Amino acid sequence: MGADGAPPPGAGAHGFRARATAALGDPQVRANFRRAMDGLMAKRAALFADPAEWRAMRALGASIRARTLARLPELLERLEERCRANGIEVHWAETTAEANEVVLDLLRARGATRVVKGKSMVSEEMHLNDFLEAHGVESLESDLGEYVIQLDGETPSHIIMPAIHKDRQQIARLFGRKIRDAAYSEDVDELTATARRVLRRKFEEADAGISGVNCAVAETGTLVLIENEGNGRMSTHVPPLHVALMGLEKVVERLEDVPPLLSLLTRSATGQLVTTYVNMISGPRSPGEKDGPREVHLVVLDNGRSRIYEDEELAVTLRCIRCGACMNHCPVYTRVGGHAYDAVYPGPIGKVLTPQMEGVDRRHELPHASSLCGACAEVCPVEIPITRLLVRLRAEASTRRVGSTVLGAGGARSGGEALSWRLWKRAFGSPGAYRLVSWLATRLGRLPVPRLGPLRAWTSVRTAPRPARRSLHELAREKGVPDA
Ligand code: SF4
Repeated sequence: MGADGAPPPGAGAHGFRARATAALGDPQVRANFRRAMDGLMAKRAALFADPAEWRAMRALGASIRARTLARLPELLERLEERCRANGIEVHWAETTAEANEVVLDLLRARGATRVVKGKSMVSEEMHLNDFLEAHGVESLESDLGEYVIQLDGETPSHIIMPAIHKDRQQIARLFGRKIRDAAYSEDVDELTATARRVLRRKFEEADAGISGVNCAVAETGTLVLIENEGNGRMSTHVPPLHVALMGLEKVVERLEDVPPLLSLLTRSATGQLVTTYVNMISGPRSPGEKDGPREVHLVVLDNGRSRIYEDEELAVTLRCIRCGACMNHCPVYTRVGGHAYDAVYPGPIGKVLTPQMEGVDRRHELPHASSLCGACAEVCPVEIPITRLLVRLRAEASTRRVGSTVLGAGGARSGGEALSWRLWKRAFGSPGAYRLVSWLATRLGRLPVPRLGPLRAWTSVRTAPRPARRSLHELAREKGVPDA
């Protein structure tokens, strides 16, 4: 059971292993991901062709994020002050439930019942669409990929390209089923035009727009939002109310910190030098201006980030700029896809972030879903040592260290594991017991033993170690070395 008594989502017959096995047996999922990931890796590699330039850009990105995190509380206060001075109202939410209530209150106070949304991973953390729908508010995703999966009742399978698991034939069939008057077409431009026709009308009708934030500048109170489709600009400028959602780690100190981070983000994410749109929002419409929202609100979400920040080693998780490069290069993610993780954030960063947000007791399978090959850490543009964090979280799941701030620490330790460590301690704690165990292992360890449970899984891809025929003590005695 997890910390709150709920069954562990990653465990049992419906856990990561079962979902990954199902995905591996699905040729369509394998082909869709292979094609997409190969393309993304090639585009990224072309833009970081010069190793010296890559190292320099990466060091700069890492240092900007490290400097920001070192002064995070102070920068958040400055951001709030500057945003308020610009006319942007700032709201703080400790949990996703609080953040949902803030958004709903803002909408209700203005009689808003129709919302268009730009892409926002924080809104995925909040399950905002479901929450709003349950309270009578229509919330429509306007990012093309998000629109596709919303139409199909799915969740994103990638943080940058949420519908990457679908090919155009699947999308054509979906549009044919779900969009009235849509002529069947497998042509990408025609599919895009169909979605645009639906969305244009929704932008005009919307009472409010909700968006994410790529970074927020403390120095100027500016919200930065990048995108390729123009839907982000439409969501944030056409409706009279704009609500921006961000995780509290997204703040940066200065305006000059933005270009290096955006350059790393777009090259790493989609292999672009720059995105089609870079939106910098510094307040609502001023008197005399012809467009823009009349009100802008910023909701800053914690959702476990402060707890992550408290741990000196794990705080580096908060450097993440959500580029998705670690996913695109991960040998596990590229084969099983995003849905196998059953988490808002899949892939390597998800395996680090999700257990910290939801509890290592509940999501202990995720840090183990890695070969620790290190491809993720190699491509991370802000130098997050993902493999080191995975190893740390594996240990946190099974050991309750004094002073640990990790949610659910020690909660995944099984009775069998606890017993084996107790026996190990007993054997290594007394010379007599140690000699007896060594003698038994050297004499009986080579006999065939039925390989059951975890031992069977472990030895299915590895050769089990075989004890030596004589213990070190026996060999030493034979050579005349006095026993200690
Ligand atoms: S961990 Fe690094 S590579 Fe992965 S999404 Fe975050 S910034 Fe990108």
